[in-house]
Amino acid sequence: MGLFTTRKTVFVESDILIIGGGFGGCGAAYESRYWGRDLKVVVVEKANIERSGAVAQGLYAINCYMGMQWDENQPEDHVRYARNDLMGLVREDLGYDIARHVDSSVHMFEEWGLPIMKDEETGRYKREGKWQIMIHGESYKPIIAEAARKAATKVYNWVMVTHLLMDKTRPNRVAGAVGFSVRDGKFYVFRSKAVIVTAGGASHIFKPHSVGEGMGRTWYAPWSSASAYALPIQVGAKMTQMENRIVLTRFKDGYGPVGAYFLHLKTYTENAYGDNYEATWYDSIKEMVGDYVDKQPVPTCLRNHAFLQEIKAGRGPIRMVTKEAFADPDKETVGWENFLGMTIGQAVVWASQNIDPKETNPELIMSEPYVMGSHATCSGAWASGPEDYAPSDYQWGYNRMMTVDGLFGAGDAIGGTAHKFSSGSFTEGRLAGKAAVRYVNDLGNDQPRVDETEYEDLKTIIYQPLENYKVGRNEIVAGTVSPSYLLPIQGLQRLEKIMDEYVGGTGTNYLTNEPMLTRGLELLSMLKEDLPHLGADSLHQLMRAWELQHRTLASECVTQHTLFREETRWPGYYYRADHPKLDDIDWHCFTLSRYNPESGEWAMEKAPVHHIID
Ligand SMILES: Cc1cc2nc3c(=O)[nH]c(=O)nc-3n(C[C@H](O)[C@H](O)[C@H](O)COP(=O)(O)OP(=O)(O)OC[C@H]3O[C@@H](n4cnc5c(N)ncnc54)[C@H](O)[C@@H]3O)c2cc1C
Repeated sequence: MGLFTTRKTVFVESDILIIGGGFGGCGAAYESRYWGRDLKVVVVEKANIERSGAVAQGLYAINCYMGMQWDENQPEDHVRYARNDLMGLVREDLGYDIARHVDSSVHMFEEWGLPIMKDEETGRYKREGKWQIMIHGESYKPIIAEAARKAATKVYNWVMVTHLLMDKTRPNRVAGAVGFSVRDGKFYVFRSKAVIVTAGGASHIFKPHSVGEGMGRTWYAPWSSASAYALPIQVGAKMTQMENRIVLTRFKDGYGPVGAYFLHLKTYTENAYGDNYEATWYDSIKEMVGDYVDKQPVPTCLRNHAFLQEIKAGRGPIRMVTKEAFADPDKETVGWENFLGMTIGQAVVWASQNIDPKETNPELIMSEPYVMGSHATCSGAWASGPEDYAPSDYQWGYNRMMTVDGLFGAGDAIGGTAHKFSSGSFTEGRLAGKAAVRYVNDLGNDQPRVDETEYEDLKTIIYQPLENYKVGRNEIVAGTVSPSYLLPIQGLQRLEKIMDEYVGGTGTNYLTNEPMLTRGLELLSMLKEDLPHLGADSLHQLMRAWELQHRTLASECVTQHTLFREETRWPGYYYRADHPKLDDIDWHCFTLSRYNPESGEWAMEKAPVHHIID
C-alpha cells in the first residue's frame, strides 16, 4: 500500500498496560505500583491525563462514600441501594468489593490535597445525600492524575488505542495493544503481560437533543467514545447488561446536574400547572413493574418514567422549583457553586435564556441515552469477582479479569456494578491493578508474545482513512460529499440516527420492539460495510474515525442485548413495546453477549443473578 508504511513505529514494553487515564486508570496505576514495585506500569491516554475523562471539568460531589469511620453506612447498605435502583439486577460481589474499599480511596484523595467540605460541628464530611459528600472539586482530576503520574513508569498522552493484541502462543490471552499518536501520527505497539481497560463510557451512541453546532453539548463527556467496550468486544470478551443504557433528568439545554438541588437544596419538581405529578402514575407503574415501585428510594428509571408520562399527558414542561430554596442566600450560593465546580455551561445557558432560578423555576428534560457502567446503570464487560466473596460461577481467575486471560477492566468498562461514580471507579481501578500484579507475577516464564504480522496488518488498517481521503479528495473540488469516502461526522450522524430511530432514543420516546431492533441491526451492518471507506483529512479526524468504529461496534452490542431481553425491566430508560412489563420469572438474570471476531456473529446467553446480601 506504500503511502503510510514509512510511519515510525514506537515499541513499548510493559508488565501492565493501562488504557485510559481517567478515574479507573489513575486508580489502576496507583495500585499497580503499590503492589508491583519493580513492574513496568504504563498508562496510555488519548488526551492528557491532567484533564482527561468524565471528570475533566471537575465535580462538586463524590457520589460514593460509605462513611464507615462514623458508622454512617456499611458496604451491604450500598449493595442494597444499587440493587434496588437497578430493579434487582447487580453483581453484588463486585459492588460489595468496591463499597468496602471506597472510603480508603477518598481518604487518600484528601491527603493528596482535594478539599472536602466538613461539617463544622461534627468534623465529618459534609453530606449532600446518603452516599454523596461535597467537595471543592474544580481540580479533582489534576489532583488524582498527579498520583497516577508519579506511580506510572511512563504515561503516553495523546495516543489513542484502537485494537488489543492477542498472544500468538496461547488463544484467548491478551498480549498488548496498538494505537497512534493523535499529535505526530506515530504508530504505537504496546507489548504487555496484562492489560487494564479503563477507557470510560459512551456518549454519542444515540442522537443527542442538541444537533448542528450544539452537538458537542451532551451530558456524558463527548470524548467518551465506547473504546472501553469495543476493545474487549473485538477480542471476544463477554459483555453484560449492554441494554441497560441510562437516561437522566437534567436541567434543560445545559445538562446541569440535579443531585445537589434535590438532595442538598431540597428542591422538588412540578408540572406546568404547579402539581406534583409522581403520585399520579403510581398505579400504572405498579401494573408494569410490581413491587419495585414501592422501594425506597424510588428507582431512577421509574422516576424518569413518571416524568415522561406526564409530558406525554400534555402537562409539561416539568420544572424544578428553585424559587423557594434560592430565597435563602446560603442555598443560592451552593446552587451556583455546584455549577461552577462542574458544569459552568448551565449557568451560561440560564444567563442566555434570562433564567434566574431565584425568579424562575427552570425547566428539566430527559436526556438521550448513554452507555456506561459507573452511574445508575451497569453496562460493561463480564468480570471475575473477588476470591473471598464471589460465588463460584462469578469466578474464573483474577478479580476484575474479563473472560479473556490477562485482560482486566475498571470503571465504566466493567458491567453489573452501578453507582460507583468517580471514587468507586478509582477504587475498582485499584482492585484491578492489584489483581493484575498478581496475574503478572504468576505468569513466570509463560509470557505472551505478539505476532508481528498482526500488528503490521493493523498498522495498514488504522491509517487507511488518511489514505482514503488523500486519494478520494481528488474527485471533488468543494463541499464535503465525496463519491468514495465517508467523513467521520457523517458516519456518526448516521449511527446516531439508526440508534435513535430503532433502538429506543428520544425520537421514538425511548420505545423499541423486535421488528425495529431487527431493522436497526440490518442498518448497522450496512454502516459497518461502509466504515472501511472512512476518510480523514488529519490525525484529529483519524481519531474521530476510530472513535466511530468503536461506537458502532458498541452500538451493535447494545442492540443485540436489547433484542435479547424480552421484557421492559427499566421503564424510563427504554421500553420494549412488544414486552411492556417487567418479567421476573424469565428475566431476573444478566444478559451476556460474545462477539465472534472471525464470523462477526453474536452469541447471547443468560447468567444468574446471585443475591448474596439479604
Ligand atoms: C457530567 C458528569 C457528572 C458527573 N458527576 C459526578 C459526581 O457528581 N460525582 C461523582 O462521584 N461522579 C460523577 N460522575 C461520574 C464519574 O465521572 C465517572 O464515574 C468516572 O469518571 C468513570 O471513570 P472511568 O475511568 O471509567 O472513565 P473516565 O474517567 O471518563 O476515563 C476514561 C479515560 O479513557 C480515555 N480514553 C478513552 N478512549 C481511549 C482510547 N481509545 N485510547 C486511550 N485513551 C482513551 C479518556 O480520554 C479518559 O481519560 C460524573 C460524570 C459526568 C460525565
